[in-house]
Amino acid sequence: MSNLLPIRTYGDPILREPSRPVDAITPEINELIDDMFATMKASQGCGLAAQQIGRTEAVCVIDIPESHDLEEEKDEAPRLNPDVPLRLVLINPRIIEASSNTWGLEEGCLSFPDITGSVERAWSIVVEHLGLDGQPTTTKLQGFFARAAQHEMDHLAGTLFVDRFSYVKKLAVRNKLKHLQEDTRANLPARQLG
Ligand SMILES: [Zn+2]
Repeated sequence: MSNLLPIRTYGDPILREPSRPVDAITPEINELIDDMFATMKASQGCGLAAQQIGRTEAVCVIDIPESHDLEEEKDEAPRLNPDVPLRLVLINPRIIEASSNTWGLEEGCLSFPDITGSVERAWSIVVEHLGLDGQPTTTKLQGFFARAAQHEMDHLAGTLFVDRFSYVKKLAVRNKLKHLQEDTRANLPARQLG
């Protein structure tokens, strides 16, 4: 049975906390992963990092629709990353290679309701991480899948997508961010303040 967990929003200090590596794939880690997939799906997101549900293990999950992983925007087009499951778990992930070619795309984030903005990301990356069996493995990702993984790995380092907005875009969302931060802080349990 998986649990739906509340999603932490901007202003919650945990979103700035760097994650800690996972030592072993324990039942608790498997439960965390199940809860993260369930919470992400219920929120209609395509990626989620542990900090977004108040945890600091270096774990993120991605679940993208097949239509976001096609070589072309045509129904019959082949998948861009045919060897990668559309539901992907990255444990202790680290980018070991990134393409020099980058592309911009409008991104959103479950921790930033109502805020979107263009972010420049590497087109393809190679990620070294642990598999669900606890063994080290590498996964090559391209396109939107690579983008989603970079967004989630940023979370694990305490980096947020708004940090990567252009100067002009940062100015444009400054007030929205301020309000979101105030709302989040007003609703934080007292023990988390300070
Ligand atoms: Zn996010």
